[in-house]
Amino acid sequence: KLFNEVQELKGNIRVYCRVRPFLPGQDSKSTTVDYIGENGEIFITNPFKQGKDACRMFKFNKVFRTHASQAEVFSDIQPLIRSVLDGFNVCIFAYGQTGSGKTYTMCGPGTSKDDWGVNYRALNDLFDISLSRRNAFSYEVGVQMVEIYNEQVRDLLSNDIPNGLVVPDASLHPVQSTSDVLDLMQIGQTNRAVGSTALNERSSRSHSILTVHVRGVELNSGSTSRGCLHLIDLAGSERVERSEAIGDRLKEAQYINKSLSALGDVIFALAQKNAHVPYRNSKLTQVLQSSLGGQAKTLMFVQINPDIESYSETISTLKFAERVS
Ligand code: ADP
Ligand code: MG
Repeated sequence: KLFNEVQELKGNIRVYCRVRPFLPGQDSKSTTVDYIGENGEIFITNPFKQGKDACRMFKFNKVFRTHASQAEVFSDIQPLIRSVLDGFNVCIFAYGQTGSGKTYTMCGPGTSKDDWGVNYRALNDLFDISLSRRNAFSYEVGVQMVEIYNEQVRDLLSNDIPNGLVVPDASLHPVQSTSDVLDLMQIGQTNRAVGSTALNERSSRSHSILTVHVRGVELNSGSTSRGCLHLIDLAGSERVERSEAIGDRLKEAQYINKSLSALGDVIFALAQKNAHVPYRNSKLTQVLQSSLGGQAKTLMFVQINPDIESYSETISTLKFAERVS
């Protein structure tokens, strides 16, 4: 009974773990990932310890095998994506240290179809389904793309850059097909690079949010529904040593730390059904407030690196995920 209650309480929050495979040239024998079970278990070994204390188990809704394809990952979350057409709000996050595969999961490593990450696949699927329902429903789809850097929200699809923007004010672009979306994302990526000397550096220290709004009209009754899907590639969760970071780097690290812990606190409060949910503690949680909680559904991909050097980041990532799952 208790188990059912817990499931019910946490039914709108799901946590999936994805382990990045070793990259070419990395020594795949030196891994901390001991074992991945069928039911969401993952066992991590502490490379600096011996014996039974060296191994720690975490359990999530699912753990993907290291070589799970993009298509496999997507097929698991397809029902969640489709619920947007029925008027649900959905947030999908990628959390993890820099280099753990967040962008790979959300965008993909390239633009060929096999490479497509969650965002292209989601939009493609939404267009496919809306087409197949065209005799009974008419859907309008629009997208927004923003970045949050140092607690400032920036519209990636518009040239005027007001400070302190909230997502509802960001420009909304109607789209009719996946290729429209691909074009917009190209623009967004280009704008993201403006003003930053090293795009990769910058992109790992900012949160990027692609929001898809869907308005559906049932042709017979005229009744309407609105749903939205937020696809969020979070800033890298790695801890920065206080002694190493100075100036801008320290400021960035503090902002990231603050917003990721605020996100953790919000999801934790929602999972616990707390009366007070602390949305106001960061721009990220403010921007997503209307899509976190209530009937909204949340999925978090926790991304980890398999190597020994990443051990302590891996543990802190999994602890973060464990708290919200
Ligand atoms: P992050 O966005 O978390 O910093 P990336 O998505 O850029 O990490 O991934 C880091 C590197 O690992 C990239 O070269 C990426 O192509 C590769 N990579 C990540 N996940 C996978 C995966 N599941 N399969 C193959 N390569 C991956
Ligand atoms: Mg990235």
